[in-house]
Amino acid sequence: MNNICVYCELDEGKIADVSFELLSKGRKLAGQLDCKLEALLIGHNLSGFEKQLFQYGTDIVYIADDKRLSPYTTFPHTSIIVNLFRETKPQIGLMGATTIGRDLGPRVSSALASGLTADCTELEIGDHEEKKSNKIYKNLLYQIRPAFGGNIIATIINPEHKPQMATVREGVMKKEPVTDYREGKMIILDVKKYLDDTDFAVKIIDRHIEKSRINIKNSPVIVSGGYGVGSADNFNLLFDLASLIGGEVGASRAAVDAGFTDRARQVGQTGVTVRPKLYIACGISGQIQHLAGMQESKIIISVNTDPNAPINKIANYVIHGRIETVLPKMIKYYKANTK
Ligand SMILES: Cc1cc2nc3c(=O)[nH]c(=O)nc-3n(C[C@H](O)[C@H](O)[C@H](O)COP(=O)(O)OP(=O)(O)OC[C@H]3O[C@@H](n4cnc5c(N)ncnc54)[C@H](O)[C@@H]3O)c2cc1C
Repeated sequence: MNNICVYCELDEGKIADVSFELLSKGRKLAGQLDCKLEALLIGHNLSGFEKQLFQYGTDIVYIADDKRLSPYTTFPHTSIIVNLFRETKPQIGLMGATTIGRDLGPRVSSALASGLTADCTELEIGDHEEKKSNKIYKNLLYQIRPAFGGNIIATIINPEHKPQMATVREGVMKKEPVTDYREGKMIILDVKKYLDDTDFAVKIIDRHIEKSRINIKNSPVIVSGGYGVGSADNFNLLFDLASLIGGEVGASRAAVDAGFTDRARQVGQTGVTVRPKLYIACGISGQIQHLAGMQESKIIISVNTDPNAPINKIANYVIHGRIETVLPKMIKYYKANTK
């Protein structure tokens, strides 16, 4: 059976979280398909990186190490993936729906004429019966993602072309190292074989990366505000509570669109996916596009004036009231109880 291959991305010299998340999912899918899980790492000075990949149950690690491959540029990375996939013929190819993954994914799938589903929120294995031809396809990759503005959840399959390719956004899948670590096989690629001089037609002369000021993705506590917060001034209440309890401030798209806070704080289908220990949703109604980014939170507290707000259905605790009165009380009593 052909294997599953995850393109592992480097972020400032470290393997990106999304790659570990994909390997964790890939491990499960490989178990179901009874095939091997492969990782492909492209860059420079990669010695020792394979150990981190084996921690996620990777059976085979392909390493393409050359100083011309770091920092990332489109053409050489595309060529290595395309040529390796032509050789190894994986049945499934996965990458993060990051800036790099969004650049690479369509190029690779177009070169291999394979098709690709972007921004999947779930990946499963299943069969498909083609009613017209009575043909049954076994063990396909179900590429699941919201469609039509988030109003439906679509399951997309790719029965005739391989590899079945998908990108998945950061934070959507769980990062789960395996408990039974075992050293897999490492294959160092002879990069010359996979590259052409034309791959280096674009040269990086200067590189300037603006560091993101806001990073809510890894915060264990998020106090998130919606349109019901009412103003940028009222958002200060959320910042006060968040700094008191050691959290970050998130927001719904309606709050961002209204200019109450920065876009980098947006949680949801077109924002960041988070799974904190505690998510306090203040004045957020809980539309499906918002829930898509936070429903895996461990504990959800909803503060809302509407007792029937959809978010209350998934909340562990509901505080029925206006944020202008509830939040100052939360701040006051938290301070009193932690003196
Ligand atoms: C393609 C697409 C992608 C989208 N992506 C995202 C996304 O990534 N993230 C996202 O969030 N949305 C997204 N949306 C928008 C989404 O559909 C909703 O419009 C949005 O989530 C609503 O935000 P909200 O809950 O803050 O506002 P509303 O739906 O207006 O809800 C406001 C809530 O505040 C409550 N409220 C009002 N006043 C108070 C008060 N004083 N105190 C307490 N509660 C109060 C109300 O009862 C209500 O429940 C997307 C939509 C589309 C079509």
